Amino acid sequence: MKMGKYKPLDPLEVPRFAGIRSFWRLPHLKEIPKDVDFVIVGIPFDTGASYRVGARYGPEAIRSQSLILRTHNPVLDISPFEYCSGIDYGDIQVIPGFIEHSYETIEKEYRSIIDKEVIPIALGGDHSITLAELRAIAKKYGPVALVQFDSHTDTDPDYYGHKYNHGTPFIRAVEEGLLLTEHSIQIGIRGSTYSKDEIDKARELGFEIVTAEEMFKLGVDKVARMIQERVGDAKVFVTFDIDFIDPAYAPGTGTPEVGGPSSREALELIRKGLKGLDFVGFDLVEVYPQYDPGFITSLLAANIVFEFISLIALNKKNTRE
Ligand code: MN
Ligand code: MN
Repeated sequence: MKMGKYKPLDPLEVPRFAGIRSFWRLPHLKEIPKDVDFVIVGIPFDTGASYRVGARYGPEAIRSQSLILRTHNPVLDISPFEYCSGIDYGDIQVIPGFIEHSYETIEKEYRSIIDKEVIPIALGGDHSITLAELRAIAKKYGPVALVQFDSHTDTDPDYYGHKYNHGTPFIRAVEEGLLLTEHSIQIGIRGSTYSKDEIDKARELGFEIVTAEEMFKLGVDKVARMIQERVGDAKVFVTFDIDFIDPAYAPGTGTPEVGGPSSREALELIRKGLKGLDFVGFDLVEVYPQYDPGFITSLLAANIVFEFISLIALNKKNTRE
């Protein structure tokens, strides 16, 4: 395998602000070549949003802010493209206003992507899209573990009597048997709820839940260990709702909840908590550029995806050594 064949433009050859805005200026290819390890996929869908709207512009904003990324991750001590190779697939053709039809399209196109033995990294889109991703993932791998960074459990039983929106994907995923709940964990839960027992009900579904309050009491190292122990050797899907992070650092989101971690704390938790896990997919959802002064939320999102790619590369490096 030719390592690093599909990689970003070299920022020392072409200045970072120049060129077409694929994620990290990766090659944009609709046909996935054989020797690719991960694929960036935009899912610009926001019909599942319950409060603010506008996540359909999330993928574009994250791609624009990804231009700043250089080639080496000094904290994880890895240059990802020395060990892995990736492309930007572009966006899946969702239909605004039609969630069930869009779910079918996402699942079908996702299937054809993961059948190529690559790790998909989706850029959302509101959080409703994750259900369709998980349907495709489970058809290939069977039920998987879920690590969910979010200020919400997204396990509402319904939304005004309807099954699908960005508050319901994980109750549906449990009902459909897509998750190994005994290996799944939700971190960062906070904010006002619709009822007294909302969080308990999510726990009853089988998820381990670390609320924001508990997370601050325990500290990053302890929470990172809890993630590692919960997931263990299971195949894992990582879903990162940007509202996990405090709106002071990530204001450009749909349902902001105050009192969350800083971007620094979140990056540390990602690096320690996810290191070495057996990833089958990632997504980064709920970026709303209209509410994002100075592009700080999409900049943060691009840097989180950089950490995901670094973690994929680290796994490749460790299996080679
Ligand atoms: Mn969410
Ligand atoms: Mn959320």
